Amino acid sequence: MAEVLDGIRIGADALESFVARIMGAAGCAEAEATRVANHLVGANLRGHDSHGVVRVPRYVEWLGKGFVRAGATVEMVTDGGSFVLLDGGFGLGQTVAQQAAQLGITRATENGSCIVALRNAGHIGRAGDYAEMAIAAGLVSVHFVNVAGSVLVAPFGGVDRRFSTAPFSVGVPLPGEPLILDFATSSVAEGKVLVASNGGKPLPPDALIEPDGRLSGDPHTLYGEYPPVGPRDPSAGPGAIRAFGDHKGSGLALMCEMLAGCLTGGGPAGPIGERARIANGMLSIYLSPKHFGTEEEFHRSARAYADWVASSRPAEPSEPVLLPGQPETRTMQSRLREGVPLPHAVWQSIADTAAGLGVASNVRG
Ligand code: NAD
Repeated sequence: MAEVLDGIRIGADALESFVARIMGAAGCAEAEATRVANHLVGANLRGHDSHGVVRVPRYVEWLGKGFVRAGATVEMVTDGGSFVLLDGGFGLGQTVAQQAAQLGITRATENGSCIVALRNAGHIGRAGDYAEMAIAAGLVSVHFVNVAGSVLVAPFGGVDRRFSTAPFSVGVPLPGEPLILDFATSSVAEGKVLVASNGGKPLPPDALIEPDGRLSGDPHTLYGEYPPVGPRDPSAGPGAIRAFGDHKGSGLALMCEMLAGCLTGGGPAGPIGERARIANGMLSIYLSPKHFGTEEEFHRSARAYADWVASSRPAEPSEPVLLPGQPETRTMQSRLREGVPLPHAVWQSIADTAAGLGVASNVRG
């Protein structure tokens, strides 16, 4: 571990084992604690610090308050064979979403396709993780995700919050590097505002919107007043995050709420109200190219086409055209070598959480 400009770097293995011990002390059995830690550190390794270990204090708080449960198993609500509706029962998202993805993968591998609707999952983290699971089994997958009980994002043309940050992900297995499209339908994920508020990467100046329509890159627009280290309340600020891509991104966010929220029965975005907790919904479609009878041609033509797309002359000569998933792969290669960078405030909040649970640190901040 070495000091960097505005924080520290921690080796991925050490960080993962520390987070696993924290999650264990917070009530998870070893396998679940390891899974959550692996998912969070995996997000950091891929450059998505917003969905990495910065979440640990919130997860521990939610477990303590009973907002999420350790050791959950998804409940089968409807089994239509080629489609299922599962209830996550507010289990830890990394547990119940992984179970849901595994079921979809197993059925699509047997039958060619499967649609899995999951509701009432704790925070599932990086949606691309589930696309990666499908890719590992040779499957294409599409994931619409929403966050019931969260309302952070203003629709195109509006200033009042109406959507969650509702991520969308598509995974395509290919020879060589797969394609993994995975983004929030907000201009930035809420976690990126969290990271910026903790002294990490600043937000673009037009990521947020004030109640009077002024654009802002200041995390206070979303969180209101907050201390340098400590919890952030995304319901406390006067403004909103903007939807990405004007009317098109705003429309995709609406469809995530429709499919992952309304169709699953978990509910769309909205004030937390009597729910007292947020929950992810996810509608996933798993497709097996082998069963379509086109796997060989698909691999050939999709690889050739993706390579042709990437060969477009760069607008900036020093910045080649990248395909979805490539920035994450590159960041992972360097972070595995150099360690995961954490702003001091993020590290301090994790260390405080560990100390509160009596977990000794195996790394020094
Ligand atoms: P982002 O804006 O960084 O976009 C990431 C996507 O864009 C990836 O597919 C990446 O490969 C691609 N990409 C990035 N730069 C590229 C380039 N130069 N050329 C080509 N492609 C490029 O992601 P985000 O919106 O900040 O989302 C971050 C994470 O937050 C995602 O993993 C998402 O699933 C997660 N998220 C989760 C929830 C939840 O409730 N669980 C909510 C919101 C977001």
